[in-house]
Amino acid sequence: MPEPGTADNMPAGESLAERDRGLLWHPYEALDGPAPYTVEAAQGVALTLVTPEGERVQALDGMASWWCAVHGYRNPELDRAAVDQITEFSHVMFGGLTHRPAVELGELLVEVTPPELQHVFFADSGSVSVEVALKLAVQYQAARGRPERRRILTVRGGYHGDTTGAMSVCDPEGGMHAEFSGLVAEQLFVAPPPAAATPDGRTWESDDAAVQRWIADVRATARGHSDELAGIIVEPVLQGAGGMRTYDPRCLRVLRELADELDLVLIVDEIATGFGRTGRWFASEWADVVPDVMCVGKALAGGYMSLAAVLVSEAVGAVITDSEQRALMHGPTFMANPLACAVALQSVRMLRDTWRDDVARAERTLREILPVAADLRAVKDVRVLGAVGVIEFHHAPDPALLTRTALEQGVWFRPFGRLLYTMPPYVCTEEELRTIAYALLRAAQEVELTSTGRGAGLHGADAPSGNGMGA
Ligand SMILES: *Cc1c(COP(=O)(O)O)cnc(C)c1O
Repeated sequence: MPEPGTADNMPAGESLAERDRGLLWHPYEALDGPAPYTVEAAQGVALTLVTPEGERVQALDGMASWWCAVHGYRNPELDRAAVDQITEFSHVMFGGLTHRPAVELGELLVEVTPPELQHVFFADSGSVSVEVALKLAVQYQAARGRPERRRILTVRGGYHGDTTGAMSVCDPEGGMHAEFSGLVAEQLFVAPPPAAATPDGRTWESDDAAVQRWIADVRATARGHSDELAGIIVEPVLQGAGGMRTYDPRCLRVLRELADELDLVLIVDEIATGFGRTGRWFASEWADVVPDVMCVGKALAGGYMSLAAVLVSEAVGAVITDSEQRALMHGPTFMANPLACAVALQSVRMLRDTWRDDVARAERTLREILPVAADLRAVKDVRVLGAVGVIEFHHAPDPALLTRTALEQGVWFRPFGRLLYTMPPYVCTEEELRTIAYALLRAAQEVELTSTGRGAGLHGADAPSGNGMGA
């Protein structure tokens, strides 16, 4: 039993982590899963963590809180935007009412996205924005006199959120379609677009024959099912939580062509990739594609609050408005929450000014350091796109080992499956980025050491115990 409450100012008795256990579910963890680290403070790009053993450690946040905290924690401008709004009003219903933060954020989003996108629906999370986009595609077809067109075409390996509509377009295996069959709609899947890499952050390299085969296959599938399809949804160029895979932008372009040819609503899910993360302001720019519908979230409100938005083209908006229903049939309680909108307004304003330099700095540093890991036998692939760096192993390593090793280097990561990756906060300095990249490397080396002879299968016993890093 670890000694509870050994950190200086922690009250005696049960620690928060102990009280959490059995009480709170964590994402995709059992109630009695691994003890969590406790966040005591978050400032700039650093988290102050208390380990399950009660030791306090400082760690750079290599995850930007799951892509969101691009401006870091306690950002003075975002803090001010929140405080200013909270002293006016924190929330009002959006039914029949409007307010300045929503109107100004809507105007700004229309300004910073392609000119075709002219309308905004605010949702309270990324998953909900995907639900809205899917419903919109079905409403669009009904308005065009084709109510039988209700299915969505998508690619395997995708991730679009955890609500049941969003789940239906997630990768069937990773999205647990079998476990929830009956609840989750059966959508039309094609193979994942062939992997591609951009070694210089500009041009793409892929297996041309594989791309041509994929294109032929997706064309045949879409045309063969056009009488039942409402739309297409896809993450542009980078499949995030489904496997951190990059694919050839030509594949996205073909989906745009198919949507035009078959009158499908093309939904591009930029929730993870939007606002510069992949080295383009929006990842669909890699393919010069303008979608009919774009979902944004995550970095939108700088990680302060949950907010997402659905941007809709003028043409699709007009079809909905001319339909019998006229409205887009959705309306969450916390729609366009003023506090979230006020913070997002400031977040997007800052992003517009700073993303280019910030992401370029991150990309340069990740490209310089991470490829060293490619020489490790345990490593299958190393890829960098914009401010995203990924190390893929042949076999899933022990996540606790990776987390612990990185924490010893002063960095927080949350590995999943065969992947260890970072998408650092944009405001990281060059030095902080180096620390993050070297911690990734160091964790990968540790996997190599524990998986090749020396200490194979022993790392559990070998792990430095009592250093407070155990999970
Ligand atoms: C995170 C994510 C979502 C879901 O967003 P939530 O805010 O977690 O509901 C949807 N699509 C993509 C691409 C994401 O990365």
